[in-house]
Formats: sequence, C-alpha cells, structure tokens
Amino acid sequence: MSGQDILMVLTILMFVAATVYFIIRMLPIFRVMQKARSTNRLDNWPSRLSFMLGQVFGHKRLLRLRLSGVLHFFIFSGFVVLFIDIVDAIGQVFVPGFHLDAPLDFVVDLWVVLVLVGLVLAVYQRAVIKPERYHGSDEKDGYIILGMIGIIMIGIILHESFYPFAAPYLYHVHAQLDPWGFLGYALGHVWMSTGLAYHPAIAETGYILGYLLDIGMVLAFLAYLPTSKHLHIFLAVPSIFLHKTRPHGELVPPMKEDEGMAIRTFEDMNWKDVLDLFTCTECGRCQAVCPAHAAGQPLSPKMVILELRDALRRELSGKDPEPLAGGVVSAAELWSCTTCGACQEACPVFIEHVPKIAGLRAALLEDGDVDKNSQKVLVGWDRQGNSFGQPQRKRPAWTKGLDVAIKDARKEPVDWLWFVGDFASYDPRLQELSRLVAQLLQRAGIDFGILYEGESNAGNEALRMGEYGLFETLAHKNLKWLEEAQYNQIFTTDPHSFNALRNEYRKFGFEKPVRHYTQAFLDLIEQGRLSPAPLDIRVTYHDPCYLGRWNRVFDAPRQLLEKMGVELVEMPRHGPNSFCCGAGGGRIWMEEVGVKERPADNRIREAVALPDVNYFVVACPKDMSMFSAAVQSTGNEDRIKVVDVAELLAQAVGLIVPETAVAMK
Ligand code: SF4
Ligand code: SF4
Repeated sequence: MSGQDILMVLTILMFVAATVYFIIRMLPIFRVMQKARSTNRLDNWPSRLSFMLGQVFGHKRLLRLRLSGVLHFFIFSGFVVLFIDIVDAIGQVFVPGFHLDAPLDFVVDLWVVLVLVGLVLAVYQRAVIKPERYHGSDEKDGYIILGMIGIIMIGIILHESFYPFAAPYLYHVHAQLDPWGFLGYALGHVWMSTGLAYHPAIAETGYILGYLLDIGMVLAFLAYLPTSKHLHIFLAVPSIFLHKTRPHGELVPPMKEDEGMAIRTFEDMNWKDVLDLFTCTECGRCQAVCPAHAAGQPLSPKMVILELRDALRRELSGKDPEPLAGGVVSAAELWSCTTCGACQEACPVFIEHVPKIAGLRAALLEDGDVDKNSQKVLVGWDRQGNSFGQPQRKRPAWTKGLDVAIKDARKEPVDWLWFVGDFASYDPRLQELSRLVAQLLQRAGIDFGILYEGESNAGNEALRMGEYGLFETLAHKNLKWLEEAQYNQIFTTDPHSFNALRNEYRKFGFEKPVRHYTQAFLDLIEQGRLSPAPLDIRVTYHDPCYLGRWNRVFDAPRQLLEKMGVELVEMPRHGPNSFCCGAGGGRIWMEEVGVKERPADNRIREAVALPDVNYFVVACPKDMSMFSAAVQSTGNEDRIKVVDVAELLAQAVGLIVPETAVAMK
C-alpha cells in the first residue's frame, strides 16, 4: 500500500466513524423532538430565510456585545474558510495534484491568523476578564473546543508547509511553495533553511501529521459536538430559521383541547423547545441581563436551559426521568421570573426562555407549589375578576369626582373604548392618574367610554403564572363585552392589558386594533386636538417590558415627550435593552425572598446617575407604583420624581394636577 492509499483509507475510515458516531448521538435527541408537541415553524420561509441570513452573516445580535461579537465573527468566519481548507486537503489526497486557486490559499491563511487572534482573545476573556455571564457555563468544554480549533489551525499550516516536499513521494506530483499561502510559504522556507524539507521521511511525516491534525481534528470535533455546547455550530442556523414568527408578545399559541400548558416531561414541550436546549451556546448573555439574577434571586435563564438540557441528557443515557418543575428547575428559580423577556431579546440563537418557564410554573401550580400571596391574587381574579380582591362594582369608583361622566360602552356606542386595567382602577394612588387621562380625553373632545363592572383583569399575568384556564375565563369575560360593545378603537393605559388584548386574545378571534395611551395621545397632538406648551425639563424614560420589548412600541412615548418640549436623556439600558421594574409575571404580588437589590431600586440608581435629570417618566401604572417605592427605598426623594407621561401631558396642556404636578421652569 502506498502512502497515498493509506491516507485515503484513513480518511474514509475517520469520516465514516465520526459521521456514524455523530448520527448515533443525535438520533435520540431527534426522537424526543419527534414525540414533543407540534409547532408550526416552517411557514413564511422566504422571510425566515432572510432573517436567518441577516443574523448568521450579519451577526446582528452577537455584535450587540462588541468584543464578543467580533471574536465570534473571526471564529465563525474561520469555520467557513475551514470548509475551503477541507476541500483542498482531502482533494490532494484523492486527486493527486489537486489544488484550489492560489488566492484561496491567501484567504485560508489570513483567516488562520484571525482565528488564532480570536482564540487568544477568547482565552484572555475567559481566563482573565472572566465575565460574570460565564458563571455556571461549562468552562472545560469551552477550553476543549478552543484547543481543538487551535490544533486545526496549526494542522492547516503544517501540512500546507510540507506539501511541496512530500507531494513527489506521496502523490508523485511536483508542487511548489505558494506565496499566496503566506503562512505555509514562510514555514516551508524554515524547513528548507533547516534542511528538514529535503528528508523525504521528515517531509512525509510532517505533511501527514499536519493533515491528521487538520482533518482528523475536524472529524474528532464532529464526534465530540453532540456532548458539547458547540453543537450550536450545527443547530444555531436552523434554530434562527425556526424562530417564532407569531406575535412576539404571545406567550403560548392556542391550546388544543387535550393539551394543558404544564410542562412535566420533555414531551410536554414543543419540538423547538427541545431543540433550544441543545442550541444554547452557554454564552450567558441572557443571564447578564436578567433582572432576577441581578437582584440576587436564584434564577438564571441560562441555567434553566442548561439544567433542562442536562436532565434530558441523563434521561437519554438511561437514567430515570426526573421531575422537571420543582426538581430539575427549582420552584424558587421559576417563581423569580418577571417574564420581562430580556433573556430572549439578548439570546443570539433565539432561544425562548419565557414559555418554558411559564409551562414549568403551570406544573408547579397544578401541584399547589405557589406562595400564599399569589394564591390570593389567583383567587381574586377567579372570584372578583381583579387582583385587589375587591368587588367588581368598585371597579369604576375612580370615575367619581369627574366633571363629565364617562360613557358606559356596554350601553352606548363610543368612538374610543378605554380598557383601564386593575391598577389604574383600584389602586388609590393611581386613580388620580386615571382621572387625569379621562380629563385629557375630554379636553381633546374624544367620544370615549369604559366597560365599568364589565371589565375584568385582562389575564396577562394569570397566563404568565401558568394559569391557562383562568386566563381563558378572564379573557372570555372581557370578550363578551369587547365583542358586544360598539366602538371604533380600543386603547389601554396598562401595557400588560395592552399585550393581552393585542396578542393573547387573537387566539379567540379578537382582531380589533389595540393602542397604548402613549400612541393615542401622540395622535391627538398630531391631529391638533391637544396642544402642549413646552415643558422645559430634563427627563429620562423607562420602557415598560410589555410595551417596549414585547410589543416594540419604543418611538411613540419618545415622540410624545418630544412634542411636549421635554429633553430626554436615555439611561444606558433603554429601548429593547430596558431593565425590568421587577413587577411582571406576577412578581408584584409575590414574597421577596433573598433579594439583594430590587430591580426597581437598581433602575432608579441607573437613572440618578444621569446628570441633571430630575424626572423619571413611566408609561405603566405598575411602574408608577414600583418606581415610586424605589425612589423612597433608595433615598432619592429629593433627587428624582417619578411621573407618568399623562401627568406631563396634563401639565403641558394646562390641566391642573393636584399634588403630582411638575413645575414648569
Ligand atoms: S424573562 Fe426576565 S426575569 Fe425571566 S428569566 Fe428572562 S430575563 Fe430573567
Ligand atoms: S440561552 Fe441564549 S443567551 Fe442564554 S446562554 Fe444560551 S445561547 Fe446564550
């Protein structure tokens, strides 16, 4: 057997062994996906494709963290170029004299340099900078992969540098050092100057060693992947392609009759959820932005994914299934989530954490594993239709004292229907704000009405606490009136209700356009129905999670502030990267255990670090409540004042706002 024959046989054996091993390790995962629930992720594939290309080749999300994004781009590009190298190296073995065009050698060598630089920086980042987001990730796996990539790069240059000296003996062809492949060219000259190039045995050994380090390590890499976080090399691209295209703010699609929301086994997840577990890169970006994690609570969205993945791996290796909710992922972790969606927004491979957390919460609820306060709220929603445990007849009590009575939209047609929400209706501190919104609408001459006792809690939080049945009941109570009442458009003050009406009620066929009051007021100003005088103040604005991140309403509140002549100073975390107040997902009612720094306190500290900003503008009744408390608990009463955007507008149009008025400078 000639040297070439041995290399050919070795290549085929290595390739077959690595591929078969890879498939054997992957098949059980695909079997679980097959048994999992269905979800339609193959619709509208042209737009999925263009989205995927933008994310994969443009690194759009990855580049949000500049250093990591650039490092990943180098390493990712190295893999693309590696493909050229593999074709070239294997081509040489099977087709003597085969060589890709010279400029491709240059591309390969250039990227070897960039990948090596990327590797050094990646090791520096892990070993020296040690970002907190890597905490909990499998460090060993990270180093193994970086080491493998480094070995492949060395192998490429080694066999390239020995090729011209080994080719006459191995392949019976003559070849020359190619200056385009500048690394191999330089190293080849080292072999020539030391005389190593002229020893056939050394030249052949050097070439074969380089070939095995290159192609052998690529195939070893393939075999190693199914047990590594770097499985994302194969799964990230399909996972991005299969991203959710249903409304962003919709937590779960319509449930089939025989389906519950609870996730007790991996088969209760949908197949994309299962795929997510193996797509996680352990980058920790989700952990870095999680308000619960920052507050010192026991939740990390990354660890939720990894705990589930590792449990599934144990199950696939023959171990008994473990209870997922309250076992693999603890109840404390699950109930810490505010469902703010920051994790999903940050994840470069579009993993959906929140539906999994809500599904696991649903299982906890079925087992009664929920704190007393939450139980009380759930009972309140069920019996009275509100989270305050107050009779429904008290819901419109806030309207008393208004000069002009508000129309009952159940009894007469109105142009605008206002879905007020629990907090704005029942919380005494927020009722004044609701009256102000009503006065603004009256000032603008809007024909509007409310549902009075006919309105119930929208169910957004019930669903996120895992109570699909209760959400359905609340939704149907509201839909009875939303469908019977006559109105042209609907608006809400509460972003949580906004989300439910806009995204969750679609599953019951509710299609009316829903707006947030910031959008509605902006229109009124643009139509000339409200004419604000400039307020000469500097403010910062907090994007509510259920308005901004989940519904992408970022511009309307800012434009509204601009129309009021307000100078807006953004906090470092704003827009899609806004930091949650800590109230969502039912957290506002839950006991606070082990909280080191409340998310709202953290946020107020961020705001007071801005120079000369004395107003913290909110556009959500819950935010008003959370941040007012945070201003007090952080001792910033003299430094910053929390104001609702409607308060500012009321001031700007000359409505008198007792006590809460801000001074015009
Ligand atoms: S939704 Fe928010 S609180 Fe929940 S895990 Fe994600 S980042 Fe953390
Ligand atoms: S879930 Fe996404 S953001 Fe979080 S560690 Fe995994 S890949 Fe990174």
